[in-house]
Amino acid sequence: MSPEKKLKWVFLILAGVISYGTLGYTLIEGWSFLESFYMTIITLSTVGFREVRALSATGRVFTITLVIFGVAGAAFTISVLGQFIVEGEIRRILGRRKMEKRLKDMKKHYIVCGYGRVGMQVCKEFCSREIPLVVIEKNPERVEQLVKEGILVIQGDATDDEVLLAAGIQRSKALISTIASESENVFIALSARELNPEIFITARAESKSAEKKLLRAGADRVVSPHEMGGIRMALVTLRPDIVDFMRIVTGDREKGFGIEEIEVKEKSSIADTLLKDSPIRCELGLLVIGIKKKGKEMIINPSAQIRIEPGDILVVIGETEKLEKLGQMTSARV
Ligand code: AMP
Repeated sequence: MSPEKKLKWVFLILAGVISYGTLGYTLIEGWSFLESFYMTIITLSTVGFREVRALSATGRVFTITLVIFGVAGAAFTISVLGQFIVEGEIRRILGRRKMEKRLKDMKKHYIVCGYGRVGMQVCKEFCSREIPLVVIEKNPERVEQLVKEGILVIQGDATDDEVLLAAGIQRSKALISTIASESENVFIALSARELNPEIFITARAESKSAEKKLLRAGADRVVSPHEMGGIRMALVTLRPDIVDFMRIVTGDREKGFGIEEIEVKEKSSIADTLLKDSPIRCELGLLVIGIKKKGKEMIINPSAQIRIEPGDILVVIGETEKLEKLGQMTSARV
């Protein structure tokens, strides 16, 4: 039986026993509702001060049945309730310990501040890609929701350094501040940059002026959900097929297709080869749509003659499986 069902039954039994007692005394002894209810409760609780009034013989027989069935029912109810409280408490303590341990072991993870409309989408995307993440959220109801979904969460204010440290900011790879308040996002970007100079920070902005402030505060990228939403809506209307294509490529992993940015590590098997001689196109069937060389602008649609060098970031489209293979090739050391 599920815990909710068990609890429902327990309350039904208790309500049934109390109604049985109260109704019985009212009908048999002709007592008032309060007197009958009082007598039922002191009998069930086994306090048994004294009878409200002298009981008739029928009343006594009725009290015996109430004691036999009622006290057993009440004892069962109390034991189930106790079990719920203790088990819940133990589960909470164990859950917290497990979470603390998971947090301590985390490295190169992603921190998401806020689990609202934007934060939820970010988490959904990360979870579908199995990216390690920790959420900082101050609303207890949302925290509970995250716990149920099995997502690591810290309840607290993301503008607080202690909370950022608890989320392992010094060992993390990136932070995404999805909170609606621009001033809080500026504060979070400042603190995060100070606590981890290497971290990649993406912040949410609602206006152009906030965008500048966020970049000044240390954010690497600023995204305005309203602006992005508007652009997307316009594109969906003007170029629906392109938007469908982009959705498949950027987000529909179930279709087995994706877009990745892959860094070419030093001494990887494809470093220092021409794009046309690398196995990217002919062996893996992947399409390189951009190459970013260190400190330079992205080269869109690079020529087949371009040389792939260590440190280059390749933007590649293709089957997810093949993209993973390319990821291994670019990081493999010989
Ligand atoms: P929304 O406005 O729907 O994008 O939701 C923003 C979410 O961020 C809500 O769930 C808030 O509880 C949460 N939030 C707002 N400020 C903070 C903060 N300083 N630290 C952590 N969570 C926050």
